[in-house]
Amino acid sequence: MSTHFDLIAIGAGSGGLSVVERAASYGANCAVIESGELGGTCVNVGCVPKKVMWYGASVAHSLRDAVDYGFDIEQKGFNWEKLVMKRDNMIGGINDWYYDFLAQSGVELIEGSAQFIDDKTITVDGENYTADQIVISTGGRPIVDKSITGHELGITSDGFFEDLDEECPAKVVVIGGGYIALELAGMLQALGSQVQVMHQGFPVLLGFDDMLRDLLRKEMQQEGIIFDDNNKLSKIEKQGDGKLSIYLDNGDVLKNIDQLLWAIGRKPNTDNIGLDKTSIELGRGGTVPVDKYQETVAKNIYAIGDITGQAQLTPIAIAAGRRMADRLYGGMKGRKMDYSLIPTVIFTHPPMATVGLTEQKAAAEYGVDQVKVYKTEFTPMYYSLVRHKVKTAMKMVVVGEQEKVVGVHMMGLGVDEMLQGFAVAIRMGANKRDFDDTVAIHPSSAEELVTMR
Ligand SMILES: Cc1cc2nc3c(=O)[nH]c(=O)nc-3n(C[C@H](O)[C@H](O)[C@H](O)COP(=O)(O)OP(=O)(O)OC[C@H]3O[C@@H](n4cnc5c(N)ncnc54)[C@H](O)[C@@H]3O)c2cc1C
Repeated sequence: MSTHFDLIAIGAGSGGLSVVERAASYGANCAVIESGELGGTCVNVGCVPKKVMWYGASVAHSLRDAVDYGFDIEQKGFNWEKLVMKRDNMIGGINDWYYDFLAQSGVELIEGSAQFIDDKTITVDGENYTADQIVISTGGRPIVDKSITGHELGITSDGFFEDLDEECPAKVVVIGGGYIALELAGMLQALGSQVQVMHQGFPVLLGFDDMLRDLLRKEMQQEGIIFDDNNKLSKIEKQGDGKLSIYLDNGDVLKNIDQLLWAIGRKPNTDNIGLDKTSIELGRGGTVPVDKYQETVAKNIYAIGDITGQAQLTPIAIAAGRRMADRLYGGMKGRKMDYSLIPTVIFTHPPMATVGLTEQKAAAEYGVDQVKVYKTEFTPMYYSLVRHKVKTAMKMVVVGEQEKVVGVHMMGLGVDEMLQGFAVAIRMGANKRDFDDTVAIHPSSAEELVTMR
């Protein structure tokens, strides 16, 4: 095997796979180094298995509503093991597909853990490799609060997907109030757990639209999830029966807990790749600082994806990798990732979807006088027949006389599939008037976005 390549990516996750595939399509001789499963976080312990569980939870919600639509159904139970097995089989299929995909793309796969020796050389299991361009795309991993005695008794999102394969835990405490914490809390509650979320930062989801943050918390409470934002953990202990006792700093003890799930953030995988042997100095939180072309300070070393600390989402890692390859090998001078107007969905029940500036950020950027907000809150028609009603809320943030749309934020049934098209319109510079002039699709929830007054 050759040990010199045009381009080597370290990490075969969303970013690494994308950059090598695109570069190889232009004829570059590429290799990708991977120490774990192909596909990285998204495929193995992130977006993909999560969405499967979210669909499972959605089925549970539909079954609850089915009676109100006249179905005479008897629920005889739910087989967690079966769902997890089918999910894992599906992921195994994706892993296998990636092996073929790399082979067909002409990309060399080097299996093992990569370490830099210097700015130009990487070593894997004693073999040294060099490349004209090196891309670091090693992603991140979940963190736990190691200051808490017994912290190791809890699991992280990785453990949720890798270890919880036999049954749905009856009582779960989720630590954290970010999107991963809420998504996992929501699906566990729907599939049979009693979930308590402990976090700081009322109501939840710091940084997202205030109206939706409040409403989402209420909807999740309506599903039976308990929120505790006043207390902190002080200790975790294993009981004689294997369950956990969770001690809080106010003296309370939560007993008979089946799982404690840490979802308090993620750490870039930059402490284990020998970056100290390169001229790169780590940035805040261990991230790799890059310029607008994903270039680090080290000549010909680039970084993409979660390790850069920019929007930590799969499509961002993919797009950054592809645009880089377009620029380096595809003759597209100046092509780079644009980190503005990133649409994203939080797969809670109900889901939340957001693109662009929140009201507060728009005010900070354009001035309060320049910002106008249109909003609506309603119960979608689907719920008119059912007892368990879930609200939908939408907010549009516009600026200036032309009422240019700079943000759309939604929560409710179907918003996860609704946002993508609106994100295109906003990227194209749509004004409120363009929304008004668009004919509504009736009856739908989406029509509310083009009929707001
Ligand atoms: C629970 C969860 C849910 C998520 N849901 C979503 C979602 O719905 N939508 C969304 O857009 N994003 C979601 N994300 C985020 C998304 O998974 C990440 O943003 C994305 O995977 C980042 O891609 P990446 O290429 O930077 O890193 P990764 O995909 O993490 O890939 C990094 C790869 O590098 C490998 N590696 C690390 N160190 C080395 C080394 N020294 N040598 C060789 N290989 C190494 C790792 O094994 C890994 O395979 C979710 C994440 C989590 C944890």
